[in-house]
Amino acid sequence: MCAPPMSEIDRLIQLLARLPGLGPRSARRAALHMLKRRETVLQPLARALADAAAAVGPCAICGNIDSRDPCAICADPNRDPALLCVVEDVADLWALERSGGFRGRYHVLGGVLSPVDGIGPNEIGADRLVARAAAAAVAEVILALGFTVGGQTTAHYLVERLAPCGVRISGIAHGVPLGGELHYLDDATLTTAVAARRPLG
Ligand SMILES: [Zn+2]
Repeated sequence: MCAPPMSEIDRLIQLLARLPGLGPRSARRAALHMLKRRETVLQPLARALADAAAAVGPCAICGNIDSRDPCAICADPNRDPALLCVVEDVADLWALERSGGFRGRYHVLGGVLSPVDGIGPNEIGADRLVARAAAAAVAEVILALGFTVGGQTTAHYLVERLAPCGVRISGIAHGVPLGGELHYLDDATLTTAVAARRPLG
């Protein structure tokens, strides 16, 4: 016997429950909130989701997520091409942008080295980063990686890989807690961390 088809409401709740920070209980609350506010919440949200699904994708240059490729940051002529800031995740890029303390360009690794999870240099696109860092315009690479084991392992690896590029290599320092992930930091701490970067290689 097949299971009865899932109702639209059940499906909505099940999908919402997969979002970070939402369990089944809060997913039910969110679904009910939307369904009761069809015109002001549900329909605009459905349109925004459809638009995002159709238009948004990764930037081929830096790995940011945007509705244009290259992304708005890569395409912005006012950003300093001499500074390349390496982050683990798009969430970290967004956090640095919110802090407003950095006016260079970014490179999103999409993860950190983790041999047990099968994440090696290929998975984090190390070659792509080295190629970008070797470009004449780049003077400094800032490794803005979290003070986690994976983040620091990755930083050490990238220092070695980037050394032949002849760029200055720095790491963020100040105020980033041990075990800390960048996107949990407040704007002021993050701005100070980038401003107080230290040479690594
Ligand atoms: Zn980009």
